Amino acid sequence: MTLATALSATLPDWLVADLPNLPETLPTLEDRMDLVNALADRNWRAGNGGPFAAIVVEAESGRLVSAGVNVVLSSGLSSQHAEVTAIGLAQTALGRWDLGASGADLQLVVNWRPCVMCYGATMWSGVRSLVVAGEGPELESLSGFDEGPVVADWIAQFEARGIRVITDVRRDEAVRVFADYGAADAVVYNARGAVT
Ligand SMILES: [Zn+2]
Repeated sequence: MTLATALSATLPDWLVADLPNLPETLPTLEDRMDLVNALADRNWRAGNGGPFAAIVVEAESGRLVSAGVNVVLSSGLSSQHAEVTAIGLAQTALGRWDLGASGADLQLVVNWRPCVMCYGATMWSGVRSLVVAGEGPELESLSGFDEGPVVADWIAQFEARGIRVITDVRRDEAVRVFADYGAADAVVYNARGAVT
């Protein structure tokens, strides 16, 4: 038996091809979420994974540092949610594991409240703020994913650790993406089976 010695995840070809065309800066929160929602919508239609995308930007200027999507299906790695992908690409680009090093004020923007895994990953990443399109039962009811036991006071837990949380940015558009996904009978890859 030969044990694996490395693992890797790669952005899908369509996003790699699109990266040069993405705006260098996204000045407003709405600009940032519009990009995230568009990438999330395209991602599931392209068969890479779930309807999720995330970006890391400089909070003040909106300069784009990384763009990630959920690549669970294309990578074969269950942990490659959009947030994990975007955080890892930002850390790779900057060459450091702590995105908050040297006082950097980086922001993670994602199209729903992070799942239980990404909740932890965000806390470990060093980002100083998190922007989500929304929270609530719509994601699970429309998409079929089980997001896990995220604590009820998840925002307060972030804030207590110096991570500002901003919610309800382009919420309706995020819900529309989940609804389209749920209606399309796409693969829901919870390892224990889909929640129905
Ligand atoms: Zn997640």
